[in-house]
Amino acid sequence: MHLELIKLEKTFKPSILTKIDDPLLDQYQIKLWIKRDDLLHPIISGNKWRKLKYTLDHALSEGADTLISMGGAYSNHLHALAYVSKALGLKTIGLVRGEQPETLTPTLSDLQNWGMVLKFVSRFDYRLLRQYKGCYDLPGLKPRQYWLPEGGAQALALKGVAELVNEIDVAYDILCVPCGTGATLAGIIDMVPDQVSVMGFAALKNAEFLQTDVESLLPRPCSNWQINMDYHFGGFAKTSAELMTFMADFEFKTGIPLEPVYTGKMIYAIYNLITKHTFKPGQRIIAVHTGGLQGKRGFNA
Ligand SMILES: *Cc1c(COP(=O)(O)O)cnc(C)c1O
Repeated sequence: MHLELIKLEKTFKPSILTKIDDPLLDQYQIKLWIKRDDLLHPIISGNKWRKLKYTLDHALSEGADTLISMGGAYSNHLHALAYVSKALGLKTIGLVRGEQPETLTPTLSDLQNWGMVLKFVSRFDYRLLRQYKGCYDLPGLKPRQYWLPEGGAQALALKGVAELVNEIDVAYDILCVPCGTGATLAGIIDMVPDQVSVMGFAALKNAEFLQTDVESLLPRPCSNWQINMDYHFGGFAKTSAELMTFMADFEFKTGIPLEPVYTGKMIYAIYNLITKHTFKPGQRIIAVHTGGLQGKRGFNA
């Protein structure tokens, strides 16, 4: 790995396992740990660093000086990419979904402050951009420009995600993770021991596409996984009073901050499934906190 990346990673905090003490878990004889990727770095948090690490290394090897990617107005991926690229001395261009808002979202203004050039693209054109997966696939790419697909979801992302699985030093039966593009899920499926089942929780409505997307990211066929589509709360970034109350209660009890787009929905789902006896007594669950707390700023209003 390039020295700049090794140096940067040295400044990161460890992603510990936090065991959750909760009488409800005792009642159903379930053990639950949270894998705290939210603690890695205040900005390049969670799974975005895991997914970017080896992609950035590849971009540096290729001699890239500009990284181009796509995301929404609250994108954790663009946020991590802009910050880390600035730290590495790389230029960035962000293709942002939808019209330019009159006042930039906190995420977009961070991107701009870190030197990312923002180009707003219509929802229609944004969808078309999803077909370009490879680092040189984007039409019109100039020399030394390097393309990252939405969410940084491509084969190299899996290698970084695998590292989070290797850090887990307790025995467990089930590994849970929230899903957007499914790249983090794919990296986990590829690395867990055979006897572990992996559960993804879709953050989007109509996320059936995830099944084939994850299959195509996996380097080999695997059967130890499933994606739960029942806890999207009406769609991507949609919330409910019940979800917000649950999150506030969980944060109060455990001191672990959640955000409502991904991690809040997953933890809600796990608790809900526990009370529905979906898990067997004695089962040990690890839920990956994928970070993304900056995106919470979209929900303060
Ligand atoms: C981007 C993101 C995800 C989704 O990751 P995918 O690899 O795209 O499935 C989950 N949680 C958080 C906090 C994220 O920012």
